[in-house]
Amino acid sequence: MSELAESPLFAGQRHTRVDEARAAIAAVLRPVEEVQELPLPQALSRVLATDLLSPIDVPPHDNSAMDGYAFDGAALREDEATELRLAGTAFAGAPWRGALAPGQCLRIMTGAVMPEGCDTVVPQELCRVQDERVTIAPGVIRQGENRRRRGEDLARGRVALAAGRVLRPADLGLLASLGLERVRVRRRVRVALFSTGDELREPGQPLPPGCIYDSNRCSLRAALQRLDCEVLDLGLVRDDPAALRATFERALAEADVVLTSGGVSVGEADYTRALMAELGDVAFWKVAMRPGRPFAFGPLRGRERPVWLFALPGNPVAALVTFYAFAREALLQIAGATPQPLPALRLPCTTPIRKRPGRTEFQRAIVAPDAQGVLSVRLTGSQGAGVLRSLSEANALVVLGHDDGSVKVGDAVTVWLFDGLV
Ligand code: AMP
Ligand code: MG
Repeated sequence: MSELAESPLFAGQRHTRVDEARAAIAAVLRPVEEVQELPLPQALSRVLATDLLSPIDVPPHDNSAMDGYAFDGAALREDEATELRLAGTAFAGAPWRGALAPGQCLRIMTGAVMPEGCDTVVPQELCRVQDERVTIAPGVIRQGENRRRRGEDLARGRVALAAGRVLRPADLGLLASLGLERVRVRRRVRVALFSTGDELREPGQPLPPGCIYDSNRCSLRAALQRLDCEVLDLGLVRDDPAALRATFERALAEADVVLTSGGVSVGEADYTRALMAELGDVAFWKVAMRPGRPFAFGPLRGRERPVWLFALPGNPVAALVTFYAFAREALLQIAGATPQPLPALRLPCTTPIRKRPGRTEFQRAIVAPDAQGVLSVRLTGSQGAGVLRSLSEANALVVLGHDDGSVKVGDAVTVWLFDGLV
């Protein structure tokens, strides 16, 4: 009997809360361990394997934050102008070598090394320059201003990026600024993906009566690509125990995760359950959520380690919503990433929503600004579980919590934005 199935959460017929299911999944997952070293241009969206310590001070020297004139700020007077004589120029990449005498200043460019004895830069637009004389009016600048200090961004030996970081463009820039050209990341998570159902046909093929096109594999593959997973597409599988077994065996030999859609609803689950009981410790849950009630999760026995099964409902909207609700964060966890819940906004809702406490609801919605640029959220038309078009029109999901009741116009609701996330 499985650990998950034995847990009091899943005993009997009680519906599992969304947050309980998420916690139960997070508690058993283990990340992939293999590490590889990649050149920076190939490391976008990969997960940093170890804490990365800065090998240098950034910036490596005190330098000017402005184009202007560098001088010793002790020379500044509160009530009268400061007059300095120009002694030379310091360019970025071409330091001025020498020492300033009292009363002297140096023309300096942004990023140029601060010369010995200088601690202040007056921007060029704040002073008057005539011949070789620079005049600074009282009060325009204070001692120490416009100097960037060595190590101010990052001191040598400090953690520049922590293990588990999903590398974004700015992170790669940061690594480059430290002089690094390669980075150690975990290997990608391999996900075997297939759809089940006798009624399903491949896009591009004729559609016999009673059949529909397989859309889930296409949307789920794309969602996996956004998470930087390696997708092993195992195609369409008929509702047939032998075909299903053969597909699972291939998935178990090659993948870290098996992601399926269809075949877990009550009418279809019998032989799936029997097969799952043979292959691993899968819990079949009825989750208290809409859309997307049936959902199965658990470890299957892979060759060397567990392979995690996420069996999503077949309904196209339910499949994607359960993917976001349960699989997205789990896949990041398996990838070794620091937990990253979907960023949630709180926005006023301009559509009333009827809801009873006792289940989590995910409503397709559109977030848009009004004429003043203030954001609010409204629901898209049909919320039917199979209506993929309304999910495609949506740019967000309104998430109504398990214990929440109805929403009145103007009430604040929690919103998951799609862009950049899914
Ligand atoms: P199931 O969970 O297999 O009972 O499927 C529930 C509903 O979703 C049925 O109407 C199926 O035809 C539909 N469905 C299942 N899998 C897919 C798929 N891959 N693409 C589109 N619709 C699907
Ligand atoms: Mg089916």
